[in-house]
Amino acid sequence: MSAGFHAAGELVAVLTTEPLDRLLDYKAPQGGCFDGAFVEVPLGPRKVLGVVWGPGKGDFDHNRVRPVIRVLDAAPMTPAMREFLGRVADYTLTPMSAMLRLATRSPGLGDPPAMRTVYRLGNAAPPRLTDARKRVLEVLSDYAGLSFTLGELAAQAGVSSGVVKGLVASGAVLEEASPRDLPYPRLDPDLGGKPLNEEQAAAVAVLAGGIGKGVYGTTLLQGVTGSGKTEVYLEAVAATLRQRRQALVLLPEIALTAEFLDRVEARFGARPAEWHSGITLTERRRVWRMVGEGGAELVVGARSALFLPFRDLGLIVVDEEHDSSYKQEDGVLYSARDMAVLRASLCSAQVVLASATPSLESWANAEAGKYRRVILTSRFGDSVLPEMRAIDMREENLPSNRWISERMVAEVAARVAAGEQALLFLNRRGYAPVTLCRACGQQIACQHCDARMVEHRFLKRLMCHQCGETIPIPTECPSCKVEGKLAALGPGVERLAEEVHARFPEARVAVLSSDLFGSARALKEQILAIAEGGADIIIGTQLVAKGHNFPLLTLVGVIDADLGLQGSDLRAAERTFQLMRQVAGRAGRHDKPGLALLQTWQPEHPVIRAILGGDEESFWRAEAEERRQAGVPPYGRMAGIVISAPEVGQAFDLGHHLARNAAPLHRIGAQVFGPAAAPIARIRGRHRVRLLVKAAKGAPLQAALSDWVGPVKLPNGVRLAIDIDPQSFY
Ligand code: ADP
Ligand code: ZN
Repeated sequence: MSAGFHAAGELVAVLTTEPLDRLLDYKAPQGGCFDGAFVEVPLGPRKVLGVVWGPGKGDFDHNRVRPVIRVLDAAPMTPAMREFLGRVADYTLTPMSAMLRLATRSPGLGDPPAMRTVYRLGNAAPPRLTDARKRVLEVLSDYAGLSFTLGELAAQAGVSSGVVKGLVASGAVLEEASPRDLPYPRLDPDLGGKPLNEEQAAAVAVLAGGIGKGVYGTTLLQGVTGSGKTEVYLEAVAATLRQRRQALVLLPEIALTAEFLDRVEARFGARPAEWHSGITLTERRRVWRMVGEGGAELVVGARSALFLPFRDLGLIVVDEEHDSSYKQEDGVLYSARDMAVLRASLCSAQVVLASATPSLESWANAEAGKYRRVILTSRFGDSVLPEMRAIDMREENLPSNRWISERMVAEVAARVAAGEQALLFLNRRGYAPVTLCRACGQQIACQHCDARMVEHRFLKRLMCHQCGETIPIPTECPSCKVEGKLAALGPGVERLAEEVHARFPEARVAVLSSDLFGSARALKEQILAIAEGGADIIIGTQLVAKGHNFPLLTLVGVIDADLGLQGSDLRAAERTFQLMRQVAGRAGRHDKPGLALLQTWQPEHPVIRAILGGDEESFWRAEAEERRQAGVPPYGRMAGIVISAPEVGQAFDLGHHLARNAAPLHRIGAQVFGPAAAPIARIRGRHRVRLLVKAAKGAPLQAALSDWVGPVKLPNGVRLAIDIDPQSFY
């Protein structure tokens, strides 16, 4: 009998997806089961999903222990995956049941494989060979061995489905049932690699070295936009595929996957598995099963793809690793970038963290020698980095309700005249961030949140960016009921578009903002149209900062470079630096040099100077020194505690109770700040109070936090969330 096997009737401990804080004992089913098996077990009157976690404890009346209903037809969870879930749970202070839910987010995992009807080439010759019939047969013999659905085949051949059906009747085409959860087409690592320049080749050699050894290692792949980071890490993927191991590429934004999938197809001859909120439930199930069985060699996905049940994961790429969307901000509060490093260390895989402007955390880890660092210093080919200049808004004397300076207008006009593109960047969705009543002075706020309603003129509604609530744009003030006195204050991208239309009536203007597109596909089409020259002036939010390639773009104008510097967030400087460098990097990617202009009210601000100067190393060094002095991440540890309750008093009562009883934290030398009303003091009708815990770098923070919060009994309706390494402080 092999290790981890439990014969029928033996007690096994099962982790379920139900919110119980312990494992449950069951009897192993007929035929027995192994550790890691996905099972269905009875819980009260219900059947729930679980994983066999080990031998049962037996501290329960043996006769009352119920048997496992069945072992599901899915690859068992590997020991490395089980350890990974346990380690993430410990790190983020998350119950294991929630971890298992995260790792099984795919419907019908235990169902028998669904079937579908597919078509392939038969042996009989058709009695009558029309042009249409000929095309169908040609498609089938061109793709010999592949089977198509009726729709796919008809579309590919450009015929009606009736033509295919006619060929089936004559036996020239075969119709058969085939399982839906098919393996993904094999990727060919040797198909479409580009000849690399010297720097790129050196970078690939470093990455491939680690992959060849089959050991854990993390590399920071740093390089300006357009330097070929993607080309380089695709070679790392190729090296992994040659080892017959699986690879995962994480992207920060679904809108980017379409472009990336095309590049994968060009490089490896087929499309990889795709995992994000935009795929169908059937596709989710296929990805999940195939990743477990080894029928998916490469997965491209959003952060939650990190919790897929890879059979043998050899490489994780985290593209744009500094992006804040890698931090999940609700449910399980984890950083996919950090957990990718953890996962890789448990399964002897390599991690590539790619960015033009790394997070200070990764930069510091590279400085400390924990990560390797590979730098691509120049853009690929002849294209050069854009020149960067500030426009001092104090000298511009713009009239109110105008945001584009005359210098900017002149530069945009020059680009449009030359048939090039200009991008105006403003990181604010909607028409105007504030709607003010000029009669009573009130600003229209969300009923449920401590947030202003943002006017979205395109949707003809006011919207709360916290809870998503929308209301029609009112004509009278909700407070004083006076008609016709409401005024929009400040610009959003929609309002900026108005100004652009007024200044450039002839120009074709495109607005790229996530809320203006019904679907990822609509957005992709718009991006493609722009890339092909379908617009002269592009107005965009941070959506455009991330990796899109617009060959004709030669000017980037930042409308408000100071916007991100106003918050008290400890990463305000870092984020502004990253965002501005990244946006500027959109300009001049091909044969024409680019220019980036930053409108600012404080051109002498150190961060603005660092952005303009482009001396990234000294920016990071200065920023690192400040954080070191303050003892904050990455040179100290932090945890955020958010308490929310229907009544503000309840939230503060619990906050004060925690602050007064913080002995477990004081024992490890940690400090507790607060409770204080959160910057956004109410969301969806719940009042929010924050505490902040700071500890030294090596301090056992999680254990102390458990000892501190563990004994607290939450009053009805009160919730408490612990955010380890918080990224946002709202
Ligand atoms: P990054 O990911 O650093 O922004 P990319 O990998 O997207 O850079 O490269 C920028 C552009 O240059 C892409 O169009 C890419 O195909 C091209 N490119 C990069 N390296 C090479 C190469 N060695 N040969 C041909 N084209 C390359
Ligand atoms: Zn709201």
